[in-house]
Amino acid sequence: MSQRIVYLDHNATTPVRPEVVEAMLPYLTEHYGNPGSAYGMGQRARKAVEHAREQVARLVGASDASEIVFTSCGSESDSLALLGGAWQRYDESKGRQNGVVSTRIEHDAVRGALGLLRRRGFSAAEVGCGAGGVVRVDDVAAALGDSTALVSVMHANNEVGTLQPIVELAALCRERGILFHTDAVQSAGKVELKAAEWGVDLLAVSGHKLNAPKGVGALYVRKGVRLAQTVTGKQEKNRRGGTENVASIVGFGRACELAARGLGHAEELRALRDRLERGVLSKTAGVRVNGDAASRLPNCTHFSFEGIDGHHLVVALDLEGICASSGPACSTGASTPSHVLEAMGVEPRYALGSLRVSLGYGSTGADVDRMLDALPNAVEKLRRVPASLP
Ligand code: PLP
Repeated sequence: MSQRIVYLDHNATTPVRPEVVEAMLPYLTEHYGNPGSAYGMGQRARKAVEHAREQVARLVGASDASEIVFTSCGSESDSLALLGGAWQRYDESKGRQNGVVSTRIEHDAVRGALGLLRRRGFSAAEVGCGAGGVVRVDDVAAALGDSTALVSVMHANNEVGTLQPIVELAALCRERGILFHTDAVQSAGKVELKAAEWGVDLLAVSGHKLNAPKGVGALYVRKGVRLAQTVTGKQEKNRRGGTENVASIVGFGRACELAARGLGHAEELRALRDRLERGVLSKTAGVRVNGDAASRLPNCTHFSFEGIDGHHLVVALDLEGICASSGPACSTGASTPSHVLEAMGVEPRYALGSLRVSLGYGSTGADVDRMLDALPNAVEKLRRVPASLP
């Protein structure tokens, strides 16, 4: 009989909860109207979308549901924030504000938008981080200038899980009249979000990281903040064109409601994560945990094993029925140190032997036991293979 798959890659994506599927189904089968249609079936869909908007608004800590714009994913939310924010400010300032500031540890969704802006003549500075993967507020402050239109700093890093000083950064930007965006794709549903209280202008989230389907996301846009359109059309109050993905939006809303309730269980995940870490550190030599121990997500850990290739480790674990990753899901297969570990100054002989383990909905103590049985042996075996690493 085949073993049950142990899924420990919740930072890559998550299973859709049954309650979410149940909420979505009627909007795929019976209530398939276009929310823009005036008749009853359309209006039923509209009501469902607006209900979901309230659920998402509560999870992110918006002061009003109208501050939520639905998108197709976290990447689109980041693009809308960075491109839409920067272009708008550029136009309003008649070309004077043509700079953005971000960090070296952002997800490719943000890094890609920075690249696009550079190619359009914007300056885009990327500040570094400390050895623990936390960005210093002073470094961001030093990078600001009169031409800075927007600052983008992620809330939680997707690889090492570190949490960034968002409240201080938002205050700094507000003082200078600069737009502040945070990518909260990895923190939503794992720690409490308080967009309005923190004073951020823009905050991106994604459905598939919190037990909703792939292909739906949202951007919190603080009341009064204007963005240039990146997907043209009249939907979402002219902020994002395209007929709403009603069923997925309904599922996203329900998942946000469940995630908000589940925040109280974060300590259980933290306890499982800590047990896993202690076990791996005690059973294996030449290993370290990356990321600031105090300021990080409760659900994940990031190991570096000296002298092995993290991709080989992922394959070895897969053969044992365990899913974990050696880096961000989108760069799987590349044997180069991640840009995040590089920014943290992790030496290549450690950085290349990385393993991210992330727990979530459905993770159990038995999953941790299976990992603790398999991982030290897998590392040992790989170390016996002649090394081709630096
Ligand atoms: N931002 C971060 C921090 C992420 O981890 C991810 C996905 O891994 C994204 C953005 C992109 O989200 P999506 O996959 O919904 O486009």
